[in-house]
Amino acid sequence: MSKTIPQLIEGQWRQSRSSEFIEVTDPATQEVLALAPKATAEEIETAIASAKAAFLTWREVPVPERARVMLRYQHLLKEHHDELAEILAQETGKIFADAKGDVWRGIEVVEQAANISSLMMGETAENVARDIDTSSWIQPLGVCVGITPFNFPAMIPLWMFPLAIAAGNSFILKPSEQDPLTPNRLAELFIEAGAPKGVLQVLHGAREVVDSLLTHPDVRAVSFVGSVPVGQHVYRTGTAHLKRVQAFAGAKNHMVIMPDANKDQVLSNLVGASCGAAGQRCMAISVAVFVGESKQWIDELRAQMAELKPGYWNDASAAYGPLINQQAKQRVLRLIAEGKAEGAECLLDGSQCQVEGYPNGNWVGPTLFSGVTQKMALYREEIFGPVLVCMQVDTLEEAIELVNASPYGNGTSIFTRSGGAARRYQHEVEVGQVGINVPVPVPLPFFSFTGWKGSFYGDLHAYGKQGVRFFTETKTVTSRWFDEDSVASHNMTIQLK
Ligand code: NAD
Repeated sequence: MSKTIPQLIEGQWRQSRSSEFIEVTDPATQEVLALAPKATAEEIETAIASAKAAFLTWREVPVPERARVMLRYQHLLKEHHDELAEILAQETGKIFADAKGDVWRGIEVVEQAANISSLMMGETAENVARDIDTSSWIQPLGVCVGITPFNFPAMIPLWMFPLAIAAGNSFILKPSEQDPLTPNRLAELFIEAGAPKGVLQVLHGAREVVDSLLTHPDVRAVSFVGSVPVGQHVYRTGTAHLKRVQAFAGAKNHMVIMPDANKDQVLSNLVGASCGAAGQRCMAISVAVFVGESKQWIDELRAQMAELKPGYWNDASAAYGPLINQQAKQRVLRLIAEGKAEGAECLLDGSQCQVEGYPNGNWVGPTLFSGVTQKMALYREEIFGPVLVCMQVDTLEEAIELVNASPYGNGTSIFTRSGGAARRYQHEVEVGQVGINVPVPVPLPFFSFTGWKGSFYGDLHAYGKQGVRFFTETKTVTSRWFDEDSVASHNMTIQLK
């Protein structure tokens, strides 16, 4: 009998009254690990009402005290790091090293949230007019919501609720229905760290729950991470209901390889950045753009990719795990088949991949295409699997043109030994996160995660200063104090010589 997981409502872990449940499966075996409820309308109402009430007291808690909860939380997350990674690995299929990385990148954001005191400081200016001073104050918004995807069930919830709550908000997390066990454990540890009742609520479910949250009058801000169509839906619906929304969406990230680059670095980085985590990363490199003679390296790239073996999460020799579910695998297989039908050359085909001992896993082997054009589905669609497509151009200028024509703008990188080429690329490329000889340029939390174009809908990005601004409002106070003693000086006439 599978375990039905509880929701966190009004500070208590409660079993849902729902009659509808979603199976959470191990992607390597299809074993049902748990059942996640679809929150009922009543549960959603109760969670929002409780979050609204909690906000009124939590916002009055002095900022350093709120920061101390984050310090305790960081400590607990570190203590439970491996335990969290094991839960995460089982429900996502990620190999243990990737699962640990997922948790660790989240812990780094909690460290940033512990620094909230200085991030909540406003600005002041004296004597903006006679006797008048102006200051700005940073204040929390109220009830904020986070909707997260399956591919980083620790890191992405931790991008959201610690910063929002440290800033004085209350928060409702609706994690991916595909891997809700990790977010539940994150929330348990948050309560253990001393978060007061109602400040964090966790509701489970899918589309219906998201739509209820997006349209509820008491929700002030919504942070979303997921696919493009859902991101557009969330942005449109949320803003139409006058919410502040940031929606991080899908991607297609290019790596530009100049002929003067260090070949060994290029190849090893390309292999890891394309197939790591089975390519299920929004910052994965899915397109390699070979400039000029660097195309000679494609054969060697093929040989290195062919060495990669997927496997179960606790197999130390495995390079990556299975895809999250059967539909994801079918989508990747369809795109591989379409690529072949459209005339791309399949240099390495992972569609028949099997892993011994796991006949039911959602495996796809490393796959490499060359001769891909911009018209092909392989190029246009986000594959989200261990598939790398190679394109060839003659000059850096053509490479920039190609990357800038893409509707996506999450991440990109250039590998070169030329400062001039790197400088030109970073300046001209229309992508929000650029790596120079760094394949996956995800900024640490004291910066912000800054996807552009079709990879992001909104204004303020995730974490860092922008994350704090997203979850807060700025208030300016302009004040004049009357002081009888200073009247004489105010009436003083300035003698200009
Ligand atoms: P998804 O869009 O299917 O789901 C994301 C969230 O939206 C989940 O919580 C899900 O329950 C909810 N949802 C799904 N369908 C919905 C609908 N019709 N209406 C309302 N809510 C709905 O995404 P996923 O498959 O879980 O995650 C993978 C996607 O996320 C990829 O496209 C990837 O590129 C993207 N992603 C982007 C970033 C980024 O920072 N840009 C980071 C991680 C993942």
